[in-house]
Amino acid sequence: VDTDILEEISTKNKPLLVNNTDSFPFYKNIEKKGITSFIISPLYSRKVITGIIGIFSKKNRKFSTKDLELLRMVSAPTLLIIENAELFEKTRILSITDALTSIYNRRFFETKLEEIYLKSKTYKKKFSLCICDIDYFKFYNDTNGHPMGDIVLKKVAEIIKKGVKGSDIVARYGGEEFVVVFPETDKEDAVKVCEKLREKIEKYRFPYEKNQPNGNLTVSFGVATFPDDASTPEDLLKKADFALYRAKEMGKNKVVSA
Ligand code: GH3
Ligand code: MG
Ligand code: MG
Repeated sequence: VDTDILEEISTKNKPLLVNNTDSFPFYKNIEKKGITSFIISPLYSRKVITGIIGIFSKKNRKFSTKDLELLRMVSAPTLLIIENAELFEKTRILSITDALTSIYNRRFFETKLEEIYLKSKTYKKKFSLCICDIDYFKFYNDTNGHPMGDIVLKKVAEIIKKGVKGSDIVARYGGEEFVVVFPETDKEDAVKVCEKLREKIEKYRFPYEKNQPNGNLTVSFGVATFPDDASTPEDLLKKADFALYRAKEMGKNKVVSA
């Protein structure tokens, strides 16, 4: 409504009834909006005001103290409903997010993969998928410690997330494995994006990466495309995983497609 009112109510700490905004210069901002009268009540969350609830009239309505009392009475349950909705949303986000890297978790990826698969099948569109796995990551952990490995995982997740489109789904698939689903993307384009990601990670200077067997912290990629390589999500994952296996066999730090 108006920050002045919010300020007033948070300093006065009590409900407010005004039936003639035109008699108070203080309320000129809401009077300008045509509001002639209003009642407002603070919303308390653990004794701290977190909002206000109010009824504003443009029709010269006169509010009574009874109206104000009613408003005051609904303020507590109203806040409960708002807080409940906020908590529900927070919990929903948590349930689809990987705690370490803040990208999607495997469960959400699987739900989304199914969804994209069904859509692609219906509309006869292609989509691609890649599995990425950090090279010599056990070595990195053993050499630099698990907490340092965690820092690398976060950074790799960030580079992948920033390097793809907002409509692509980036998730942590396992310990040091990530997946990306590229909706409406053929193999050629998916491989191009993965190649860019591979280069970005290769170029990024991770702490202590010089000690790695290949002198660099790198990632290998396996790419597969629906419907070219498989007709189900499970098979597509298998094909991408096998391509990844070949990338490792070919010396790592490579993008290989099914
Ligand atoms: P390759 O190049 O063939 O992929 O070898 P690799 O050493 O990366 O593969 P391997 O599967 O042998 O090792 C994966 C390592 O990833 C082992 C495990 O300690 C590490 N790892 C898995 N999850 C986490 C994690 O959450 N944090 C850290 N720091 N390390 C993890
Ligand atoms: Mg692995
Ligand atoms: Mg690995």
